[in-house]
Amino acid sequence: MKSKSVGDIVLGNKPEKRRKPIPIETQKKLLIRSKGKCENCGKSLENLKPLFHHIDGNPRNNQLSNLKVLCPDCHYSPDFNKSSYSSA
Ligand SMILES: [Zn+2]
Repeated sequence: MKSKSVGDIVLGNKPEKRRKPIPIETQKKLLIRSKGKCENCGKSLENLKPLFHHIDGNPRNNQLSNLKVLCPDCHYSPDFNKSSYSSA
């Protein structure tokens, strides 16, 4: 971790890398939309932890249209692990 210089703080050009957690309400809507299933393979997530994939790779874009509900198998597959994600 680099410490911020005073100049960075004053100029406000600190790198903004923090990811916003997906709001619970959004998570609920996503799970309703997906009917509790993985939106990639259709597997039921009943006994699994649902994972939320950011389609555009931007972890701060928490719009429903940018999020996909995935099972862990799909989430950690090479097709998806190149992008950013948030877990519930
Ligand atoms: Zn899946």
